[in-house]
Amino acid sequence: MPTSSSIHSFPSSLISKPLKPLKPSFLTTFFPRTLTLTCTTSQPSKRPTSKNSRKSSYGTSRRSSLKKTFNQEQVVFTAPVSDDPVVAIIGGGMAGLVCALNLEKRGVRSTVFDTGIHGLGGRMGTRIIDPQPLIFDHAAQFFTVSDSQFAELVDSWLEKGLVQEWQGIIGKLNVGGQFVSLPSSPPRYVGVNGMRPLADSLLSETSLVNVVRPCWISKLDPFNGMWYLSENGKPQGQFDAIVIAHNDKKRRRRPDLLDSNKKPYVCGKCANRLLASSGLPLIARQMKRLELSSIWALLAAFEDPLPIPGGAASSPFEGAFVKGVDSVSWMANNTKKLLHSQNSGPHCWTFLSTAAYGKRNKVPQENIPNATAEKVKVGMLGGVEAALGLPKESLQKPFYTRVQLWGAALPTNTPGIPCIFDPQGRAGICGDWLLGSSLESAALSGMALANHMADYFQSGGARPEEFAVGLMNEFQPLGGHDIGQFPGLESQKQTNEAQAYELAS
Ligand SMILES: Cc1cc2nc3c(=O)[nH]c(=O)nc-3n(C[C@H](O)[C@H](O)[C@H](O)COP(=O)(O)OP(=O)(O)OC[C@H]3O[C@@H](n4cnc5c(N)ncnc54)[C@H](O)[C@@H]3O)c2cc1C
Repeated sequence: MPTSSSIHSFPSSLISKPLKPLKPSFLTTFFPRTLTLTCTTSQPSKRPTSKNSRKSSYGTSRRSSLKKTFNQEQVVFTAPVSDDPVVAIIGGGMAGLVCALNLEKRGVRSTVFDTGIHGLGGRMGTRIIDPQPLIFDHAAQFFTVSDSQFAELVDSWLEKGLVQEWQGIIGKLNVGGQFVSLPSSPPRYVGVNGMRPLADSLLSETSLVNVVRPCWISKLDPFNGMWYLSENGKPQGQFDAIVIAHNDKKRRRRPDLLDSNKKPYVCGKCANRLLASSGLPLIARQMKRLELSSIWALLAAFEDPLPIPGGAASSPFEGAFVKGVDSVSWMANNTKKLLHSQNSGPHCWTFLSTAAYGKRNKVPQENIPNATAEKVKVGMLGGVEAALGLPKESLQKPFYTRVQLWGAALPTNTPGIPCIFDPQGRAGICGDWLLGSSLESAALSGMALANHMADYFQSGGARPEEFAVGLMNEFQPLGGHDIGQFPGLESQKQTNEAQAYELAS
């Protein structure tokens, strides 16, 4: 596959070659200043219990948990790495799945833990509503390819029939219905039956990867040279190293799941909280710096086609970045995108809000008040009407709607490094936010961390200072569309022209 020229991409060499370690002086100067808990394998290995686990004197309030993030003891694994290490990957989105795939390529076993009730994928979400069925990609919409290693991966997905090119017209829809199509190059890709089925298929041919879902890892305990994972008190195994492959900073209530005490599942310890007491202060600090936007998704099915303006070829567009409308930043026709030539109804559309609208209308995402859901639905349908240049209240009523809030939608800042790894604590981070806000950046981050950890395992863990990476990088603001970045989609010239057009109109 030819790769497009990238407007923001980082060199592939960062992914394929060993990552540049932190200066050795960093470890010797930083770690001694922290309290150190040394984990060796000299004692017989048994699970930590409330009696024998590392004692914490910290409380559970938010204030104390923030303090704890910076003051907690650094865990230091000193025993040699096992010849056959097993890695726990917490998060089964694009980054975690590609990390597992690449660990397998290097002969390293892993278990992927993911919260997904309906499947893997995280923000690669597809909702199918029976019996019709209605189909909606309700987070990631499509992706482009700019990096040669990602291109190789996508080629293999094309060969297996997991992804396809989205041939439909996409472009920019300016308020009032003015549509400007984007060039058809670089190609845009979508999962053949949607994004979630793509995620669910990624590990289908692996033999060294175990998947556990739905499972919400709520505790990480370093003990006797291993990481012990648990889900609300239920043990989930012991591992030589861990990967944090999620950005989830939110406290979540899951009335749909019961914990081992048959009580509604509450996850108050994810990412920040999960890391706040795990013995990984540097990892926790980097995670805390991450800032995320919020985006509303409105899924709507219509009996009749919407009155869509055409592109240059005057066929109606299938996807559009919406400009000049407060409540909507993207709209896509899933029926055309995923079911192609279907002209008869129903017509399934995904509308995604702007980040500003998401922020202004933010509520707890698991418990959306009915009044907010209704307000958002009306506000976003009004935005669609304005974008299409239709008279007020003239848009046909959808026969099915559903709103969803992505409370931790897209990163707005980044350390700009493919992955983070703390060799003392044998813990790494991968995810889109390390490099950008796209499926490509998530995949590249997963690849980079897998290769870096495999190199570390090969070294036997004897020279940790050579493998510390990303622990001190400063964050920079991240650009792109409200729904993420699409490397190569718009050249800088096109972006400037579009901006000039917006200013003039
Ligand atoms: C509305 C929206 C639209 C987007 N559109 C596009 C697009 O068109 N193109 C594009 O390239 N990108 C798009 N993106 C961005 C893209 O979806 C992400 O960059 C990518 O999916 C991130 O993958 P990830 O693996 O880093 O994280 P995630 O996909 O978030 O995966 C993390 C997983 O970890 C799980 N998890 C969290 N905590 C725990 C725990 N304690 N235990 C177990 N599991 C846990 C989560 O539930 C989740 O499944 C969009 C994002 C949003 C929100």
